[in-house]
Amino acid sequence: MRYVAQLLTLVTLFGARAVMAAPPHAHQHGAVTLAVAIDGEQLSIAMEAPLDSLLGFERAPRSEAERRAASELLARLRNGGAALFKPDAAARCTLVTAQVRADVLEPAAQPAPKDGEHADIDADYAFKCTSPNLLRSVDVGLLDAFKRIRRIEVQVVGPKGQHKATLERPARTIPMQR
Ligand SMILES: [Zn+2]
Repeated sequence: MRYVAQLLTLVTLFGARAVMAAPPHAHQHGAVTLAVAIDGEQLSIAMEAPLDSLLGFERAPRSEAERRAASELLARLRNGGAALFKPDAAARCTLVTAQVRADVLEPAAQPAPKDGEHADIDADYAFKCTSPNLLRSVDVGLLDAFKRIRRIEVQVVGPKGQHKATLERPARTIPMQR
């Protein structure tokens, strides 16, 4: 009986894990995914991008020029969230937090990433919107800022349900309501 209970626990754990780990996308150069969610006054935007699409390489920098490009990219994503993502002005949103993570660019990353493996860069932004019900769209500057990005796959989750959108040049606006 106890064994069965343990087995059930395992199944539950692995089942839940499989659902959570199901990748919304495969790592594909040129394609970036965005998860955009509005929950009360909070608008969150989670970006997952192949490092290649933003930086041109997916390993630790090897030259001074590469080191400079990598630190410029991190700074641009950490400090430039309000330029890259512009919610509808009517919704009166302000950027509250920005978190950027690219293990392969962090010298202290454990374990050290291996050469030849793919690597992503993740960025999470949280906005606070005082009129979230007026949020009809979010303008995305990624296609202008990064020429290697060809397509942005967007998943939107809002109070009225969820939908998907794909942005390719010259499109740059995510419709927040279907
Ligand atoms: Zn890659």
